[in-house]
Amino acid sequence: MYFIGEEASWNGFSYFNSKFGVYFEGHNKGTVAHETMHAMRLPHTFDGLRGEFTYKAQQTDNFMDYCHWSQDIEGNVRTPVEGRTLFRWQMIKLNYNLKYTH
Ligand SMILES: [Zn+2]
Repeated sequence: MYFIGEEASWNGFSYFNSKFGVYFEGHNKGTVAHETMHAMRLPHTFDGLRGEFTYKAQQTDNFMDYCHWSQDIEGNVRTPVEGRTLFRWQMIKLNYNLKYTH
C-alpha cells in the first residue's frame, strides 16, 4: 500500500488481480476496502461486464458502489452514503479468489 500525502482526482486506485493500492489525501477506510477488493478482482456494483449482478450506480451502501460521492454521475449534488456492506455473491467471489487465484 502506498499512501501519498497529496490530493488527486481520486482517493485511491488499484488494478484487478494486483498486490498494491495507492491512496491519496482524502482517502478513508472505505477507500482502502474498495481498492483492496478491486485488487482481489471484485468489480464495481454497476459494472455490467465483470459483475455477477449489475446495480444502478449510487443506489446501495455497498463498498464497491460510488455511494460516497457527493455528486451523482451527471454532476448533481447528492447526499453521500458511507460504503459499509457487501452482497453475499461478492463474499463468495472474494473467498474463491483468495483460495484459487493467489
Ligand atoms: Zn473502484
